[in-house]
Amino acid sequence: MIEVAVGIAMREDGTVLVGQRKPEAIHGGKWEFPGGKIEPGETPKEALIREWREELSANLRGVQPWKRVDVAYGERKVALFLLFCQSLGEVTPNVYQQVAWKQPKELLEMDLLEGDLLFLADLIAWEVGPERPGMLHFFDWYQIHARELPWRETTDPYRIWLSEIMLQQTRVETVKDYYRRFLIQFPTVEDLANASEEAVMKAWEGLGYYSRARNLHACAKLVAENDGEFPQTRKGLLTLPGIGDYTAGAVASFAFGERVPAVDGNVLRVAARWFGIWEDIMKPRTRTLITERISAILPEDTATFNQGMMELGATICIPKNPACGRCPLEGDCYARWHHEQDELPIKSKKKKPKRVEVAVGWIHVEDRVMLEKRPAEGLLAGLWGLPSGEGETQEEALQALLDYLDEMFDLQVGPGRKGHSAEHIFTHRVWTMTGYHFEVSESPVVEYPMNRMLKLEEFDQLAIPTAFQKIIKKGSR
Ligand code: SF4
Repeated sequence: MIEVAVGIAMREDGTVLVGQRKPEAIHGGKWEFPGGKIEPGETPKEALIREWREELSANLRGVQPWKRVDVAYGERKVALFLLFCQSLGEVTPNVYQQVAWKQPKELLEMDLLEGDLLFLADLIAWEVGPERPGMLHFFDWYQIHARELPWRETTDPYRIWLSEIMLQQTRVETVKDYYRRFLIQFPTVEDLANASEEAVMKAWEGLGYYSRARNLHACAKLVAENDGEFPQTRKGLLTLPGIGDYTAGAVASFAFGERVPAVDGNVLRVAARWFGIWEDIMKPRTRTLITERISAILPEDTATFNQGMMELGATICIPKNPACGRCPLEGDCYARWHHEQDELPIKSKKKKPKRVEVAVGWIHVEDRVMLEKRPAEGLLAGLWGLPSGEGETQEEALQALLDYLDEMFDLQVGPGRKGHSAEHIFTHRVWTMTGYHFEVSESPVVEYPMNRMLKLEEFDQLAIPTAFQKIIKKGSR
């Protein structure tokens, strides 16, 4: 069996390159897709690049394997390895009588080599643009390699929306468990809408970024008022609280099949490398540019395309050392072909989070400890925690705590006993927490801030954010 690499170079206008064999050659006068024999030890891609250089003085890029077609020329059996590619610059026919760029349909009128006729019908069936073969390869990759995630098995907008909100800033592995438990507790959007804020916050406890939970609850209430129906378009979804561009695109395409992109951080990275975009992806105008580029190539099956792009960013086109050899966009990727994966994307550095000293107060009344509900605005709003004071130094923080206890709870407690320390990193600040223990004889009685005296083992009745959990876990003494 002879193995031959065959190159199908397709231009933006859908024309493909064919060459006419010289009269004295075998099959003289016939037209064919340029290519040549694969030498021992060569891959079809390497053979094709070499052959095009020798036969057409052309440099190929974006070479992607398509399929193999076996053909018999009399006794001779030939395996054709078909590859899609782009040629850079002009081509000069060294072994052909002439070359021509033709629409695949026009090739029906030409005297094409028998083997090449075998795949011409497939070529004609393809349109230029989104459905071009590279994209088909991308879909195949997704079908084979996509991770099985519970929210991918549904088109229920409630479940998709819930998973998307949970996945913002949170790892997939963490979300899986929360998603499952949340759906047991709130199986429908109406169940979520009718739940108390306390119950929603408790279910969210540990996921962080609590404003997401508050928006989730507010959004569920609005959807429940609309008979539990989510808006079915990106535009409609954008009117709901907590739903931004990305989430609206994801829900609209996954649940309702709308042909709109879903551009998250992963997609920004993949697109910047794939298209060769040398703009800062942290800037809104770059996001707009990338959204427009992706919108222009969205295929019919937008949901799978969007899922695939995100999957690619999460598993292959990762920030450091992307696995280009396993990437379905490899043959078409700017960064890969220019060896600039490490330079792209351009991403301006986030500001370093500010370090803050926090004095955390343990107010003990016998075997109980006071928890307070934090204000409705600001960091960890509406959640339960130990009273605290902030400062640039530990002394300042402690003083702030003592002032706070005096002012809000009428407690004059002295410096207290120093306890355990812990650290918690928020997006914009890092808390270095130190606990201080104060023994008091009576529970403070105030209406605001709302407070409760509980035994340590009763703390899990309330939604306590991870920052406080860290210091609580170290012990109350
Ligand atoms: S080829 Fe490499 S850089 Fe390009 S999209 Fe794929 S993984 Fe990313």
